[in-house]
Amino acid sequence: MLWKTHNKLLFVSLLFVINSSFTWSQSELKIIDKRVNFGFRPTQNRNIDVVIVHSVYNASGGNKYNVDSVINQFSHYRVSSHYIIGRDGAIYRLVKEKDVSFQAGKSSLPDGRTNVNSCSIGIELITTKDSLDAPTELQIKSLTALVKDIQSRYKIKYVLRHSDIASGRKTDPWNMNWEEFLKTIEDKKSE
Ligand SMILES: [Zn+2]
Repeated sequence: MLWKTHNKLLFVSLLFVINSSFTWSQSELKIIDKRVNFGFRPTQNRNIDVVIVHSVYNASGGNKYNVDSVINQFSHYRVSSHYIIGRDGAIYRLVKEKDVSFQAGKSSLPDGRTNVNSCSIGIELITTKDSLDAPTELQIKSLTALVKDIQSRYKIKYVLRHSDIASGRKTDPWNMNWEEFLKTIEDKKSE
């Protein structure tokens, strides 16, 4: 009888452990690795203080939102980004944060620095330029969580759009409510 009670207790506590680890993993950022072997430079000890948000779509035929097609497109131009966020909010990692990803191109920061790739993390949202299109709610939710996570790990000076650092050359991220997004990450930062 005692043994049975003990077992029951063990079972209940096991359930608790399983349940709590499940909750824990749900609140963690889920990242899917799709690492590339182009469009980046392996780097040691770079200083990261900038996040650049972009948008991209598959312009080479077929599904415009297909992540693998977008990566193929990147390989063609030998560019990349650290992360791509799919329409369903899934976050893919193409390049390790410690490495330099070729995503910003010729650009300059508000403080005058021009070697933006070397100090930034690039995030691409899959969306088209079509004015009827926009990043999905799930994409914005993942972007917010990812940027917040990056802010917790580095001292981030700027979160900028590609168009902020390469105006006249770049217009992305397209159809995004940027002010609303900035408010969200600032609110979360002060929580
Ligand atoms: Zn861009």
